[in-house]
Amino acid sequence: MRDEQERFWRAGYEDEVEVIKRRKANGYTVRIRRDADGVVREYHVAELNWEDHSEYLWTEGSFGCDCNLELFFERAAGNKIEDEVLRCGNHRFTAISVLLPNGITIMLERSS
Ligand SMILES: [Zn+2]
Repeated sequence: MRDEQERFWRAGYEDEVEVIKRRKANGYTVRIRRDADGVVREYHVAELNWEDHSEYLWTEGSFGCDCNLELFFERAAGNKIEDEVLRCGNHRFTAISVLLPNGITIMLERSS
């Protein structure tokens, strides 16, 4: 069940990207921290605009889940990671801030 949910969330991400690719996107950059060692990587989201729901998505929402954050964290370094090793949770990775194309930085806060 949990695996199915993970696949659904990631499939949802790919679907959303496909839809939004058809619009013109300005993109944004998310700073993702691996909490175990404090390493921060910048993941550029080219296909999306920062919108009203985006902060929720990266904190309480599905992008803020460890499985997606780990995927983006590894992609940010050009690494590939197998779906099978991605695990859900909210203790291993944190989306700490977002850099918008206009130079503004938004700090992200997760309530849990
Ligand atoms: Zn997850």
